[in-house]
Amino acid sequence: MTHRPLLLAARLIALALLGGCSGGKKGPPNVLLISIDTLRPDRLGCYGHERETSPTLDGLAKAGVLFTDVTAASPWTLPSHASILTGRYPSRHGVKDHVNHLRRGVPTLASVLRGKGYKTMAVVNSHNLSERYGLNRGFLAFEYLEEQLADGSIPSRGPEILEKARGWLEAERTGPFFLFLHFYDVHSDFTPGESYREKFVRPYDGTKDGAIDGTTEQLARIRNGVGEIDADGVRFLLDMYDAEIRELDDLLGEFLAWLAQQGLAENTLVAITSDHGEEFMEHGSLLHGRTYFQEVIRVPLLLCGPGVPADLRVATPAHQVDIAPTLLALAGADIPKGLDGLDLSAAWREGALLPQRLLFAEADHNNQEPDVGRMVRTAGQKLLYNRLTEAVQLYDLELDPGESADRAEVEPESAERLMESLRAFLSGEQEREMIDAPSEAVQESLKELGY
Ligand SMILES: [Zn+2]
Repeated sequence: MTHRPLLLAARLIALALLGGCSGGKKGPPNVLLISIDTLRPDRLGCYGHERETSPTLDGLAKAGVLFTDVTAASPWTLPSHASILTGRYPSRHGVKDHVNHLRRGVPTLASVLRGKGYKTMAVVNSHNLSERYGLNRGFLAFEYLEEQLADGSIPSRGPEILEKARGWLEAERTGPFFLFLHFYDVHSDFTPGESYREKFVRPYDGTKDGAIDGTTEQLARIRNGVGEIDADGVRFLLDMYDAEIRELDDLLGEFLAWLAQQGLAENTLVAITSDHGEEFMEHGSLLHGRTYFQEVIRVPLLLCGPGVPADLRVATPAHQVDIAPTLLALAGADIPKGLDGLDLSAAWREGALLPQRLLFAEADHNNQEPDVGRMVRTAGQKLLYNRLTEAVQLYDLELDPGESADRAEVEPESAERLMESLRAFLSGEQEREMIDAPSEAVQESLKELGY
């Protein structure tokens, strides 16, 4: 295993020489969209993390465009992925909870590309992306690998997902393809392989009473006020998280090298993102899904391939709803009317400009702990609103990126102005399509997964 990083570096260089992200153009580009569930950008080298968690993603960032400030549509998996795949906010695509289905008639990235003659395939690794909610719309082939096994464990299934992707590409490689891969590997349970654990996880006394084990079940219990976590426990969790990120990054490196060997890299547009981040006690809690602080609501976004310049960092705030229109524009497809997102390639097209605008996040997850948050932000200010208590918090993201000082009372005019925008946004909610609640067994499993 000691030669692995060197081997991977060599593979990435080979990838670059083959034109992996440099963008030769022959016909409509293939589109590869990768969502790494629960991935915080600040744990990646290309976003400034000091540990070597992400040589593959760092290489992609170097070969393409990195967006430094990207906001998720919600703090949890289902509404956010629906926004990634439709380019609409949750109140416009209608998927805010486990009793909603993607609204009839809402086009998806897959349905538009399929209309343009693309072959479309998805492999997903979460109940939240299963057919039940309609996020399979437009995919000719769609596979859901369960995130929780019968024994209750939540393993990393990255190798199986990539094996399925390789098999499908080998069989369907004529004509342009759209491949969507969703990985649950860095989501808790935090269970990195032994060699990654050795590399990233510093000594921690896991035998003492109440020691942190990295399971979702334990973290959810602590979040609900049963049990505690100290600074050593948090460090251990972050180490385990880093190790899982590197493990998946290595797998993606091997997959991209394989794509290059198949001659598929040159004309493939690659987009890497996540649905939300993860809390590690920055604001007194764990996991995700309940708060809208930056550790939960900020996600990475890397693009590279045909039509994308190399080594560019874009600091203008962007949003998950921009991903679908951007990929469609780069693929030369028409962008459906009524999307909330923008084509981000305006950031590098001559004469174009990516505008400053208001960005929103919302969900309505009435589970054991209801999601009561709403968020609106500009480049520098962020307003959080609790729909039950009507409490408002205002943060200055430039002076106080850790969101430690609520300024709502110091700057009431700013708070009111943003609140006004949020009200206007929420008033545009479209009717949701309701479905039955998941079965009791599934609800039990969702609870164990932290939802
Ligand atoms: Zn998620």
